[in-house]
Amino acid sequence: MSATPIMPAAFLGHGSPMNALEHNRFTAAWREFGDSVPRPRAILAVSAHWYVNTTAVTAMARPRTIHDFYGFPQALFDVQYPAPGLPDLVGEIAEEVKPDHVGADVDGWGIDHGTWSVLVHAFPQADIPVVQLSIDARRPPEWHLALGAKLARLRERGVLVVGSGNVVHNLRAIDWKQRDGAFEWNRRFNEDARTLMCERPHDVPALASHQDFHLAVPTPDHFLPLLYIAGLAAASGRPAGVLVDGYAYGSLSMTSYTLDARCPQGDGDGRGAAPLATGVPPEQANV
Ligand code: ZN
Repeated sequence: MSATPIMPAAFLGHGSPMNALEHNRFTAAWREFGDSVPRPRAILAVSAHWYVNTTAVTAMARPRTIHDFYGFPQALFDVQYPAPGLPDLVGEIAEEVKPDHVGADVDGWGIDHGTWSVLVHAFPQADIPVVQLSIDARRPPEWHLALGAKLARLRERGVLVVGSGNVVHNLRAIDWKQRDGAFEWNRRFNEDARTLMCERPHDVPALASHQDFHLAVPTPDHFLPLLYIAGLAAASGRPAGVLVDGYAYGSLSMTSYTLDARCPQGDGDGRGAAPLATGVPPEQANV
């Protein structure tokens, strides 16, 4: 009897979009994750940067590469991630998430930098179809965890679910002097999130009442992609594991998680996360 092949899943802490152009211990971990998984039929990306008042799935055959940030070098605006889409996946997702409704986005979005800044490392050939699932801003963390859990059966059909955000993401609190460091509140929140992801992923929504939640998560967009991987972990009955751990500029967590992956944890050596924008203040850069 052969085991049912099940696709791993991951939450990747993307940090600055400049990570797309750099090679550091975070980007090395993303690449190791990509190298470790069976070839996916499609990648379903839940990016912090598609945070809208609806639940939608991209359904174009040729999604465009979106450069949704400000103040970065031209080289970053020149990046293209020409992966195809997979319009048929909308119907499969719609079936799985009933009675919740997902809309098909045929011409609005594409592949945003939350998605391509990590996929250029994890899947540099851009030859696997990429579909994005929006984050419905009207919904609480519990709802996102439940929606993530509903995607579990797609893993049995070759779909790699990747959440891309940051567990801690406070651009107003950026401290340029702490390139690899963290404020105490960042470290506390990130470590408590890690305990839940690795021991009780179904409890991750409880972080919304953590003492440091409002500093760590001033807006939910970068935090909520984590809930999808927590939901998949809860549905599988197995906890997530840390892919790579770390911090950037005091107020960002760079921690990434995997589920059911055979991928070694990063050893902590090497360069830290890429710098943020220099042309505009961090909170105006849409990173
Ligand atoms: Zn971002």
